[in-house]
Amino acid sequence: MKIQEAYNNFKNLIFTRRCTICGDVCDVRKSLCGACEDGTFRIEGDVCEKCGAPKKACVCRSAPFYMSSCAPFVYEGGPQKAIFLMKYKNDLTITESLAAEMAECVKKRYSGYDFDCVTFVPAHKTDVKRRGYNQAERLAKMVARKLDLPCYELVKKDFHTAPQHSLPAHLRTGNLAGALSYNAEAPCSIEHMRILLCDDLKTTGSTLNESAKILLFKGAAEIRCVTACIKLNK
Ligand SMILES: [Zn+2]
Ligand SMILES: [Zn+2]
Repeated sequence: MKIQEAYNNFKNLIFTRRCTICGDVCDVRKSLCGACEDGTFRIEGDVCEKCGAPKKACVCRSAPFYMSSCAPFVYEGGPQKAIFLMKYKNDLTITESLAAEMAECVKKRYSGYDFDCVTFVPAHKTDVKRRGYNQAERLAKMVARKLDLPCYELVKKDFHTAPQHSLPAHLRTGNLAGALSYNAEAPCSIEHMRILLCDDLKTTGSTLNESAKILLFKGAAEIRCVTACIKLNK
């Protein structure tokens, strides 16, 4: 039995391959699983420029501080699993492929716009310490490299808050009130800058919106967002 087990482990190691988007086991000759290859969870076609969701699932209600938002995937299936692997399992391969998808999404959706720098939604230092990293920062740095832009830490999170996903939508903006601030140690002035703001997941957009507000108050010209996934209201 032991030998059989060892053989199976060996066989799995040699003959299976993981989907580079979601980490699911896939055909050894391919780099993507069936759903990721079919683009089942990809956001394409008629997309709302403001919230980044497919037009039929547009969730725009009030005008946010950012100009627009986009994402390559909806938060379901493989991409949802990918977010989990990136956020809680320190999976850098998955992070890299999500960042590549985000960079492509920026090139496509924001083709008429230029950016001066990339930044990211902050995490509180206790979360960063516990997890060892801020996944939004990792994504932003990778996206910046792919777009040949500098990446700056511009927004800080000063207070620990309840996780946004643990709260109903109407409490999310209030939850962040006063928790975010401009990074006093930012390496340069952001006046008149066009900034690309990154996060892993957009749900109601309130964290992106709070961050965008802080950047605009500091003189940024405009903020556009990119996330790996958008959670659709169903
Ligand atoms: Zn997949
Ligand atoms: Zn919309």
